Amino acid sequence: MRIDIATLFPEMCETVLNTSIIGRAQKNHLVEIHCHNIRDYSPDPKHHRVDDTPYGGGKGMVMQPEPIWRCYLDVIAQSGSLPYVIYLSPQGKTLTQKKSLELRERPHLFLLCGHYEGVDERILERIVDEEVSIGDYVLTGGELAAMVLTDSIVRLCDGVLADPECFENESHMNGLLEYPQYTRPEVWQDVPVPEVLLSGNHANINAWRDEQSLLRTQKKRPDLLEK
Ligand code: SAM
Repeated sequence: MRIDIATLFPEMCETVLNTSIIGRAQKNHLVEIHCHNIRDYSPDPKHHRVDDTPYGGGKGMVMQPEPIWRCYLDVIAQSGSLPYVIYLSPQGKTLTQKKSLELRERPHLFLLCGHYEGVDERILERIVDEEVSIGDYVLTGGELAAMVLTDSIVRLCDGVLADPECFENESHMNGLLEYPQYTRPEVWQDVPVPEVLLSGNHANINAWRDEQSLLRTQKKRPDLLEK
């Protein structure tokens, strides 16, 4: 899978992309991620301008369409493929595990990060396939949202986690939350690990985990059960 991220602040993304599981996935050539500074595509060679005031008046600045269009064309030329384009936006559908599972099947994604008051509508109409939001609140820019989306997709790609079991039982994979987890020591501050987990009986352990999963979903997120 290839992911191209178009942003005015690539430095906001680089640490996240080069750390932990995403960093390792890139080193192991399981995923290829490129950040592009939209400013490099400005038609204004002197000031590298990428935004202007909104037509009709109002506060703030709007990102111009041409630098984004040029960035998009350059990505197509570099990669030789037509990416599926996602605009990170508070106006998009809220990201879910189901959406990340669907997007991991796409061979090439282009993530567009807005900033300021947003992006000129004409470029959105021209290139965007889908808008994705990470929640009903407004961020300063799309970079954090692009990192959330990238992380949630990359960890689901083949070979990225040691074993698909690592995510198959996780919260939201089957509409439930994951069971509680414990590690050493066996007793911590007088609180022991549940006995069944020490029993070595995998049928009993699985039954206990299924039950716990259901109980904690009922307690923490009853809305998931209603769905
Ligand atoms: N004026 C826009 C509106 O009211 O819909 C909000 C612009 S916001 C300050 C700047 C950029 O941050 C957006 O263009 C978008 O790329 C990103 N952004 C903000 N909130 C987001 C969210 N909840 N999910 C994804 N991206 C978001």
